[in-house]
Amino acid sequence: MRVTKAFLPTLKEVPSDAAMVSHRLMLRSGMIRLLGAGIYSFLPLGYRALKKAMQIIREEMDAIGAQEFHLPALNPVEVWDETGRTEAFGDTMFHIKDRPYVLAPTHEEIITSIARSFVKSYKDMPQAWYQIQEKFRNEPRPRSGVIRSRQFTMKDSYSLDATWEGLDKSYEMHSRAYHRIYQRCGLKFFVVGASSGAMGGTGSQEFMVESDAGEDVCAINEESGYAANVEVATSQVPPVGRIEDNPPVEKFATPEARTIDELVEQFGLVEERCAKALVYIADDAPYLVFMAGNDQLNGSKLQAALGANEVRPARDDELAELTGADAGSIGPINLKTDIPQIADLRLEQANGLVSGANENGFHYRNIDLARDAKITAYYDLRTVKEGEPDPLGGRPLRVVRAIEVGHIFKLGTKYSEAMGATFLDENGKTHPIIMGSYGIGVERILACHIEQSHDEKGIIWHPTLAPYHVHIIALKMQSEAVARAAEDVYRRLTGENMEVLFDDRTNVSAGFKFNDADLLGFPLQVVVGERNLKDGKVEIKVRKTGEREMVGLDEVVARCLALLDELSRT
Ligand code: ATP
Ligand code: MG
Repeated sequence: MRVTKAFLPTLKEVPSDAAMVSHRLMLRSGMIRLLGAGIYSFLPLGYRALKKAMQIIREEMDAIGAQEFHLPALNPVEVWDETGRTEAFGDTMFHIKDRPYVLAPTHEEIITSIARSFVKSYKDMPQAWYQIQEKFRNEPRPRSGVIRSRQFTMKDSYSLDATWEGLDKSYEMHSRAYHRIYQRCGLKFFVVGASSGAMGGTGSQEFMVESDAGEDVCAINEESGYAANVEVATSQVPPVGRIEDNPPVEKFATPEARTIDELVEQFGLVEERCAKALVYIADDAPYLVFMAGNDQLNGSKLQAALGANEVRPARDDELAELTGADAGSIGPINLKTDIPQIADLRLEQANGLVSGANENGFHYRNIDLARDAKITAYYDLRTVKEGEPDPLGGRPLRVVRAIEVGHIFKLGTKYSEAMGATFLDENGKTHPIIMGSYGIGVERILACHIEQSHDEKGIIWHPTLAPYHVHIIALKMQSEAVARAAEDVYRRLTGENMEVLFDDRTNVSAGFKFNDADLLGFPLQVVVGERNLKDGKVEIKVRKTGEREMVGLDEVVARCLALLDELSRT
């Protein structure tokens, strides 16, 4: 493609609300354009990259024997009513005004409705069905460009099995395909176990890409391979444990101490022996929860431990009513009401603790939880901290932000049961089909790659996703020698199936062309200039390393192929 013929609307300035690097670079390089909040047009350059990602996904899905569908995005709402997900999605789902249709946010229901009509026997399975298609979700505050948009491209696939072992195999196969897909796209990623939450299932994993702009927080150690969402991550942080001296409890005045830090400072206490008492309401029931020192209570862990649908901290008026004191003076002894008490695992067996007296301005010391409190259960409730020893080998954890690029679920029979998608086993007995669901955010692959691979000048494309492989920069097209040589290089490279953008503009400076080339960031730049041509040479620059080399016109093709091959392996 010649720049003089191309639609390549690069931008100098981007809207100030584009905070993420990938968002800014995709706008600046003319890959995407905003149409409305969370709605993006993919322009030719962006669509070239998107199609590459889709092709890699397609190849890997085909390689595991999955078959490609193309399902409608416009769905009759009654299909969604069958599983109750019209309600579950709520405002996230787009409804068509005055018509009983919705725009599909995912496709479990449609797949299940097809399976219900055609999959009748255990002999019809296993099946793996996929599509690469538009999804619609009314994301409340889309701010991160195509990472969270209201219309996006998802590769979604679904497995249908007659046995649970079959589901395990289908899931494993998808997991391996996902590893290959992200590897081929040049992404550094890690896999975390996720709670399957609202999808309702028996197991799930998320494929994550580290990024400061990510919305998820994970604890990882590359060496041991430990990786988990902080909602479930654990560490080998030592328990608080017992001390030998175990005198009876004693009340003392703490008028100026409302926080753990103030207690520690004013009374010379050991932080972790201050049992912080919190009151939480799980669904409608109050709980008193003890944490060691400044350990952070993790809401997701608490919710999972109590099997609650929702947990929230109690309001100030509820605190006073339930305990008799305000936050900061609450503890296990002399509670106003008899609310169930639970504690974090670190406090199991612990004594010599300080906690509130349920009377403002007072605490108790020498508390032995087993002796002085009515703890009904100990759970892992704390959020792990940076640097704590990982649960696998005790290596320091890194707590990082990350973006979810893919998600694999063992759905089980939730959808097949709700929709009556059943099959007959060998003995003629009816069972619900056992399903899995597997998603990849295609735009997120591009955006995450750019997040991981850029510099101050622009994008640094991996060859597999790059919209073009080579950017030819003709320094002075007015020069007949330059024009002839550049045309020649262009012909040779495209003749070898390389995708080439040829900057053949006559009206812009060399500096301008160099800046554009670095912004667009294709893996190789071939600079054709008068001076080097005198020796029959052109210059190749590797965008990623900045390394430059001179090559003769006859060697350009071979060198470009070799360099691209090398770059593809990194
Ligand atoms: P998130 O937690 O980021 O909202 P999700 O868990 O709701 O995502 P899934 O239902 O698991 O998303 O969808 C599968 C994949 O689709 C995700 O792993 C993600 O890569 C991508 N995806 C989800 N929502 C969006 C969106 N609004 N814009 C772009 N990609 C998305
Ligand atoms: Mg998900």
